[in-house]
Amino acid sequence: MPFSRIHAFTFLIASSALVSYFIVMPRIGLGYDSHRFVAGRPLMLGGVLVAHDMGLAGHSDADAALHAITDAILGALGLGDIGEHFPDGDPKWRNADSRHFVLHAVQLAHQHGMKVGNCDLTIITESPKLRAAKPLMKASIAEMLGVPQSAVAVKAKTNEHMGWIGRGEGLAAMAVVMLVEQTEIG
Ligand SMILES: [Zn+2]
Repeated sequence: MPFSRIHAFTFLIASSALVSYFIVMPRIGLGYDSHRFVAGRPLMLGGVLVAHDMGLAGHSDADAALHAITDAILGALGLGDIGEHFPDGDPKWRNADSRHFVLHAVQLAHQHGMKVGNCDLTIITESPKLRAAKPLMKASIAEMLGVPQSAVAVKAKTNEHMGWIGRGEGLAAMAVVMLVEQTEIG
């Protein structure tokens, strides 16, 4: 191969590597969920059993945090919402472990050549206090999403005693998830 062609070939390889490095197409998604508190159910949040005298009502285990994360991933992919993928009239999902929903959404992302970049979660509730549970949730969610714990934020807020959350009728969760392209260097 003449030198000039080798040169051109090398340039092509180098530039395509640069393209795959610099042209990333992140996708962002927002998820929201809320559930009513009821007696007699365990309180599952972020895949973690949280000590409380009430749990959340719902067809599945009612883990609002994981439902919000699932919807954020589905939203980033433009693939509808959790209710379309897991209809709550389906007896198959009765008392279901919500980690299954997150793992399904992550798998869908992989099928579309994407992976989770980071996740930012906020849980809004007057009680229980989530200070002790937050690190456990962070570890649990990071494992589900296949990311380091540094890529997951778990924040807890009260609603300053305002409205239905303030009266302790239930809790809400909001999540933002960034998906990034799966690349050989990523
Ligand atoms: Zn839900």
